[in-house]
Amino acid sequence: MNTLDPLHTHSLLQRFLSDADALGVRTYDSGRPGPHIGIVAMTHGNEIGGLHAFMRLIDEGTLSSLACGRVSLILGHPDAFLLRDSSWRLSPQRYIDEDLNRVWDAPGTHTHERRRRDAIRSVIDECDALLDLHSTSEPSRSMIFLASKNEQTKHIADMLHAEFLISDILSRLIGMPLVEYHARLDSSHVSLVIEWGQHYDEACAETMYENILRFLSGMGVISREFSPPPLKKRLRVFHCHYVQTLDAEYLYTLTPASFDRIEAGQSIVRDGERVFVADRNSLIVMPTRAISAVGEEMHYLACEE
Ligand SMILES: [Zn+2]
Repeated sequence: MNTLDPLHTHSLLQRFLSDADALGVRTYDSGRPGPHIGIVAMTHGNEIGGLHAFMRLIDEGTLSSLACGRVSLILGHPDAFLLRDSSWRLSPQRYIDEDLNRVWDAPGTHTHERRRRDAIRSVIDECDALLDLHSTSEPSRSMIFLASKNEQTKHIADMLHAEFLISDILSRLIGMPLVEYHARLDSSHVSLVIEWGQHYDEACAETMYENILRFLSGMGVISREFSPPPLKKRLRVFHCHYVQTLDAEYLYTLTPASFDRIEAGQSIVRDGERVFVADRNSLIVMPTRAISAVGEEMHYLACEE
């Protein structure tokens, strides 16, 4: 895997911010009526592929000749990228106080992330369509999470590259994520997340770049022809296991991974006194053994559509 260099990323960030507004947002306006599209990178500060994709779009001039509407490139949490360790080396983190992608319905302004949310909320509120770019700490298979449910959202999602298209997951998270907030503002909004690849994988940034172009094309603000992507597997989440004890353990395997198949009747997890058994054939999504608090999401179960 070719990796993205944090120091190079730091110089890209400085270049992005040098021409951004006070919020760290760059907006490109065609001067013609049309939708306002928001693309968000670094909602988690160490997920840097989207920033690399942004700079490529900017350097190629793609956004300076929009067919219609406006495009805002939004950096969610650059301050979390800029954190330093005790030796003053760059030490990008997911967040500073709490997860920026879980605070969109949380009260108060007592954390970095709640203040950052309030700062960028006015831009988010203006967007008709929002694409939030994420990556994972370990290499993983690519997923789109749908927040909005209208036909345009399904059409746009069909144009994007990803292996899985997953619905009914974001509304089950504890603490509201950005795109769920955006989707609930207006039923006509297009609001989705892409989780693609490992944070520092160069290929992840390249795919984010292509998916941004596909998203902008689908929304009609640029005119590009794309061949249809390979068909995605469609999953609908029907259950989330919120952990009840800190020593909960998986029973179906020692090495749980997303999209493992679970058979009806199979024991999935022991959590306290209880063993949770699958009531139907399903796939597990985002299982975690790194539980830090009772009540956190431990995994989801999904059916193929
Ligand atoms: Zn993320």
